[in-house]
Amino acid sequence: MTDQGSSIDPTTPSIARVYDYLLGGKDNYAVDREIGDVFKRDLPGSVAIAFANRAALIRAIAQIATTTDVRQFVDLGSGLPTADNVHQVAQRHAPESRIVYVDTDPQVLVHGRALLEQNERTRVVMADVRNPAEVRNHPDTLELIDFDRPVAVIFSAVLHHVNDDEDPAGIVRYWRDRVPSGSYFFVSHFRSGDNPETEEAEQILQRTFGRGRWRTDAEIAALLEGLDILEPGIVPAPLWRPDTVDSLWSDGGERELTVWEQLIVAALARKP
Ligand code: SAM
Repeated sequence: MTDQGSSIDPTTPSIARVYDYLLGGKDNYAVDREIGDVFKRDLPGSVAIAFANRAALIRAIAQIATTTDVRQFVDLGSGLPTADNVHQVAQRHAPESRIVYVDTDPQVLVHGRALLEQNERTRVVMADVRNPAEVRNHPDTLELIDFDRPVAVIFSAVLHHVNDDEDPAGIVRYWRDRVPSGSYFFVSHFRSGDNPETEEAEQILQRTFGRGRWRTDAEIAALLEGLDILEPGIVPAPLWRPDTVDSLWSDGGERELTVWEQLIVAALARKP
């Protein structure tokens, strides 16, 4: 593992733990809840965004597992274990699916080992998505993923934690160029509303974590360059194939979206 020198720091807020708090999880400390409460107070849609994102991710994994032959997943910035994790969704539909979870947060490694590595077909790798070669060539990744066969590469709510000068498009390109045709890319991303709410949201993220970008639709589309974006395109997460598969948090997409739910978008793309 690449976890030397890392340890859980309960005095500094972590993205993974604040997100866990917003989703109603218990793997967080006072310092995370404090920031989570700032989000809830100043950005009242934060919880809706977190749930809408998670629900779209679950639908996308089920979509891949039920409609394609892809049986291997690399989940980049996977987060803490929650209600319905990628391996549970994929293996529910296709039990032979193999999943590598990747996150920088040491707590993900600790909890992930217990909760995500539930079978021979899942691994948790502690590595930084900004160093894709380290993730791709990690022994645990290579043990599970056959890069000669199509892979599903998951960037769920992680690329908006990569600043522009850290080249998020280059990270996606790295993976795009190293997986075979027929591989899938799922991306969900904070979408700029060009309004005071998203400007403030970006400021809170930058202040707290030193990174965080709410990108425009054009900027998000540019991250997927060279890939075919599948129907329904880059859309607010609740509108991403709301009724294709069963999901814990699927709401059918029937009602009108809140302003907040439109501020997280999802897309599934395929390498031609
Ligand atoms: N993918 C999960 C989901 O969509 O429900 C979790 C999303 S959570 C908002 C973002 C996760 O990305 C956190 O667990 C955080 O630790 C992780 N993360 C942020 N920057 C990262 C990086 N550079 N490398 C690896 N993980 C990162």
